[in-house]
Amino acid sequence: MPETHLPALAVHGGAGDPPEGQETANLAGVRLAAEAAWAILSRGGSALDAVEAAVRLLEDDPSYNAGTGACLDADGEAALDASIMEGTGLGCGAVAVVRDVKNPVTLARRVMERTKHVLLVGDGASAFARRVGIPPHPGALLITDVQRARWEARRAGASTEAEPKGTVGAVARDARGHLAAATSTGGIPMKLSGRVGDSALIGAGTYADDLLAAVSCTGEGERMIQLALARQAAELTARLSPREAARAAIRLLGDRVGGRGGLILVARSGDPAFALNTAAMPRAWSSGGVIVAENGPDAGGA
Ligand code: ASP
Repeated sequence: MPETHLPALAVHGGAGDPPEGQETANLAGVRLAAEAAWAILSRGGSALDAVEAAVRLLEDDPSYNAGTGACLDADGEAALDASIMEGTGLGCGAVAVVRDVKNPVTLARRVMERTKHVLLVGDGASAFARRVGIPPHPGALLITDVQRARWEARRAGASTEAEPKGTVGAVARDARGHLAAATSTGGIPMKLSGRVGDSALIGAGTYADDLLAAVSCTGEGERMIQLALARQAAELTARLSPREAARAAIRLLGDRVGGRGGLILVARSGDPAFALNTAAMPRAWSSGGVIVAENGPDAGGA
């Protein structure tokens, strides 16, 4: 009989300041996503299926900066980044600067499973989507009135909102002890056309290794890239508790490159954990089969 593990999972909805008036909606989204992932894990499903399902739900929730509701780039368009990784064979896939796909995390999974590549970008990623049967999704449908209004305000210099927020991610360990992680985002508001953040980069925004941990990061992507933060956080679990490892990685982010953000992780063994150095990060995690959700600063929850 193969060894069985208590499944574990965590979901985040992006580090930053809580969007005004959206605190409640954002918490409901991560809770629903965590419940959907838990339903998969608790009936013996894979960590990979669980993280993909959780991220898809959040991509379809317009209150998050991923899929529908993504923030807009300097040209006023949504350009999506996503990645996914499984920790058994270290299989991984990612897409970046995608403008016509509803669920980029699923496209990232197709890259992982149906190509010998890891990262496809722009038109090439869209062409690949069509080849694997993912229909074109008009870019205009990704853009919500809220994000259009924010873009107009930023362009007019009327917005003081400086930080990204609302990126989504999920990490899980299934009953067989396999780990997976996924992250999806519209990136940073007013980013230059063509900019790729950490969420599309394996090792920076997303990482999973059954021998270490599964990690999804959020925050200023350029800072995560400088540190290969997701991989570093995973490595820290080899010598620290999951909680201490998450906190040490976020301390490193602040101290070494002045970065602001957060991360969630599920270690090879042990409970889910998170850490953040921003005012908020909607998050939900499993605690012995019960889903717990909270926003706000790091108060020592998981
Ligand atoms: N890390 C994302 C990016 O830089 C943004 C975020 O997490 O809010 O694209």
